[in-house]
Amino acid sequence: MQYISTRGQVAPIGFIDAILMGLADDGGLLVPTHLPQLSQETLAAWQKLSYSELALEVFSLFIGDEIPREDLKKLVDDSYATFRDPAVTPVRKINDNLHVLELFHGPTFAFKDIALQFLGNLYSYVSGKTNSIIHILGATSGDTGASAIEGVRGKEGIRICILHPHGKVSKVQELQMTTIDDANVLNLAVEGTFDDCQRIIKELFADVEFKHHYHLRAINSINIARILAQTVYYFYAYFRLAEQGVTAKVNFSVPTGNFGDIFAGYLAQKMGLPINKLILATNENNILERFVREGIYQPGEFRGTHSPSMDIQVASNFERYLYYLCGEDASAVASIMAQFKNEGRIEIGADKLALVQADFDAYGVQNEECLDTISSYYGEYSYLLDPHTACGVAAGDRKSAEGEVTVALSTAHPAKFNEAIELRKIEQTYPEQIQALFNKQQKVTVVGGSNDDVKDELVKFF
Ligand SMILES: *Cc1c(COP(=O)(O)O)cnc(C)c1O
Repeated sequence: MQYISTRGQVAPIGFIDAILMGLADDGGLLVPTHLPQLSQETLAAWQKLSYSELALEVFSLFIGDEIPREDLKKLVDDSYATFRDPAVTPVRKINDNLHVLELFHGPTFAFKDIALQFLGNLYSYVSGKTNSIIHILGATSGDTGASAIEGVRGKEGIRICILHPHGKVSKVQELQMTTIDDANVLNLAVEGTFDDCQRIIKELFADVEFKHHYHLRAINSINIARILAQTVYYFYAYFRLAEQGVTAKVNFSVPTGNFGDIFAGYLAQKMGLPINKLILATNENNILERFVREGIYQPGEFRGTHSPSMDIQVASNFERYLYYLCGEDASAVASIMAQFKNEGRIEIGADKLALVQADFDAYGVQNEECLDTISSYYGEYSYLLDPHTACGVAAGDRKSAEGEVTVALSTAHPAKFNEAIELRKIEQTYPEQIQALFNKQQKVTVVGGSNDDVKDELVKFF
């Protein structure tokens, strides 16, 4: 399989070069030259596979023979052996209309482990094969950082630096990142918001000289390997419902920030998985909900919410969707993105908006509704939702029609976001791995919000 840029200025490259490149050199995002189309027979055969077996099949389609199958199998098996549940991503039935796809059984209790355990092992494999050092630079609103660090800590040939917005991640997220004392890990707490962190990273990666000099590699959700890893559980969950005899139309409701997770579902659907509706759930930072409703993509005012991992104004994966929305016309995408850069907004025509609304339904969850959802599901089903998952569940409740079944993606364990849970006087017991963090020493450097502040620290570390 070959990969090209959404902006059309990168010659086709293989999978390993694509994951190493991260952001495309022309400022776009990498996408496969074509999407594999799955036959009924393939889908039927996949239904019987374990999570790891299924992941191996999906990755094989997108990697081809660049990584020998037995090496790939080992990478996949190692990546999912760290999960606490034998199903990796179990599906829990809450009621006849709602199932929750639990994606939080990895080392850091958030769904990002599913992609980053794999990406960490993949980088380590590539470093070994090419005998080179890999420097990972990433920004996090909380979960990516912990997950990425956990994916590569102590691994030879890799150094990782993660930027997070100082004081704007949850306590558990902060502890998960900063209590790691491996020498190959640097945490920078930036005075600013997550969007500031993300902008700094984007600009440092766009500084091609700096990027090449330090062999900078990305781990944020613009990395195509992460998207591909996330397509797997859409298949897996769909098959579990079929196994339980569900014959209704199946929707997926996805708590959305950077548009990575839901884009993975969109790819699964385009590959032939018969998903009925993809429901895009946002919190009060609802740029994507407004886009689906009105066809206008324009950042609003930043709002701090109970679901900080979705507090995002510019969704970095959105350009991948635009590429498909424009019929895979890279020059159209390039001109839309240039316009976005100049004018700060994108407006699509009525014909395209109709396509968007056929692809997605969307709902923005207000803070109170998020907490109400946590309370009501806890009261009625004794099932504790984290605030991100609660957005997905609330949107699913709003947007599912009679006779449809919705799978809400649970993107984090509630213990990661006790700040929200305790507002509704719900007491939870932390899993022991999380409890243990509170007794550990923290290691973190606070920096200002300019590119140079960050560069200075990086140069010292690398
Ligand atoms: C990252 C994250 C999200 C948003 O996922 P995107 O791929 O950025 O849309 C939602 N919930 C949690 C808990 C997350 O960590």
